[in-house]
Amino acid sequence: MNRHFTFIKDACGEFMLLVAVVTLASVAFTFATFQSYGQDVLLSALLLALGIPLASAVPYLIFLSVRMSSLMTDNDGLQRVATTDRLTGVLNRQGFDRKIRRHIHGLVGQTEMGLLVLIVDADHFKRINDRLGHPVGDQALKKIAATLHRSVRGTDAVGRLGGEEFVVSLPCTDPEQGMAVAERLRQAINRLVVGQGANSAQLSVSIGGAFLRTPQSFDRIYAVADANLYRSKQDGRNRCTITSIAAGGRGHFQPRSAHRPIALVDAR
Ligand code: GH3
Ligand code: MG
Ligand code: MG
Repeated sequence: MNRHFTFIKDACGEFMLLVAVVTLASVAFTFATFQSYGQDVLLSALLLALGIPLASAVPYLIFLSVRMSSLMTDNDGLQRVATTDRLTGVLNRQGFDRKIRRHIHGLVGQTEMGLLVLIVDADHFKRINDRLGHPVGDQALKKIAATLHRSVRGTDAVGRLGGEEFVVSLPCTDPEQGMAVAERLRQAINRLVVGQGANSAQLSVSIGGAFLRTPQSFDRIYAVADANLYRSKQDGRNRCTITSIAAGGRGHFQPRSAHRPIALVDAR
């Protein structure tokens, strides 16, 4: 709303500048044309030359503001559609790209906060589709997305990169806090059930994450998180693996127990 107001205010300012230029030109032209007709005629002509553009500017200005406001509302709606995943309602790749770029940029000059990026992939999703049908699979994706969305703050980003793979980006203070968040998300999803009675399935996801303190390219962050996701799948699924990326280094793994399956180590 604030952005709308600033844009309309700037556009109205430019319009008033245009009105001032037109009025000046009109006054100059009137003066040159009517100066030989005597003072009374000249004065009347100048009043008209000044009054008409200024008076007509008011309705134009009102019209312009109303039209711009409605166009900006339409534009916001289109932008939302263009950046939202149709099935699940979370961000699509384009929307997520935009938001994570802001998160990564927010790390510049930050000493207190880092960034946690998680790839969340549904386990054995093909089996759910095959056993319960594609519509139930879609239902599962909606439930996973809603749970992720509900479990993080409004300023965090939740996106669907495609298929049954989601991604979450959230500023957090340290890798330990990141571990706790990832576990909370995993457990919340593991409580979800789709289908009915004998034809139902409990959902689970595997999570791979990367924690960073300094800006990195998304490709690099994704590569580290994806390698960790692969590790979570290899280790039996329904678990989280997170590593920390150091400024110039790569994330490394550290052995971990099956029940606290999150490993963290600062890579050099
Ligand atoms: P893993 O635990 O290793 O991740 O196994 P998986 O079965 O989840 O992974 P795999 O890549 O073999 O299968 C992913 C499945 O997700 C296959 C595809 O049909 C399904 N899928 C992708 N997009 C959608 C969708 O929009 N709706 C539904 N219902 N299924 C989808
Ligand atoms: Mg999967
Ligand atoms: Mg997958």
